Amino acid sequence: MKKVAVFPGSFDPITLGHEAVVLRALSLFDEIIVAIGNNSQKKYMFDLKQRQTWIEETFKGIDKIRTDIYEGLTVNYCESIGAKYLLRGLRNQQDFEFERSIAQMNRDLNDEIETIFLFTDPEYSAINSTIVRDIHRHGGEVSQFLPKNIKI
Ligand code: ADP
Repeated sequence: MKKVAVFPGSFDPITLGHEAVVLRALSLFDEIIVAIGNNSQKKYMFDLKQRQTWIEETFKGIDKIRTDIYEGLTVNYCESIGAKYLLRGLRNQQDFEFERSIAQMNRDLNDEIETIFLFTDPEYSAINSTIVRDIHRHGGEVSQFLPKNIKI
């Protein structure tokens, strides 16, 4: 059976850290869906369609990577598309504690979906979409933190 992984997030915006995790995971899966979880209660800086376009541009030409948008529980989305793996990146101890809780609760919700973690490359471990947004909001240059074709 095809091994399909979902890499869920807000990608507000996608960063070099996200890109590296997905590229490194390519050898583990037949297909990776970079999926934007859309929460109508949450405010985003960048428009949903714009965020998806940036993801498409980042992975252009790589057939094994697709993008999608979903609402609701991530495990339900995984089940609906037949994905058995959830891919997450780990940067530091805070990520670890937070991600552990999410992974355990997701497992309680659906024990057929396995969360797979990759440690981020050290050079990307400080990159964080929230900080990228703050820099951008205050007029700073953020291109050094973003995949090479992304111009904000
Ligand atoms: P959220 O909005 O839920 O925090 P993000 O879109 O920021 O989600 O991140 C999605 C996934 O990417 C998470 O697993 C997060 O840990 C991971 N991630 C974010 N930034 C990096 C980075 N610099 N290196 C590796 N993984 C990262």
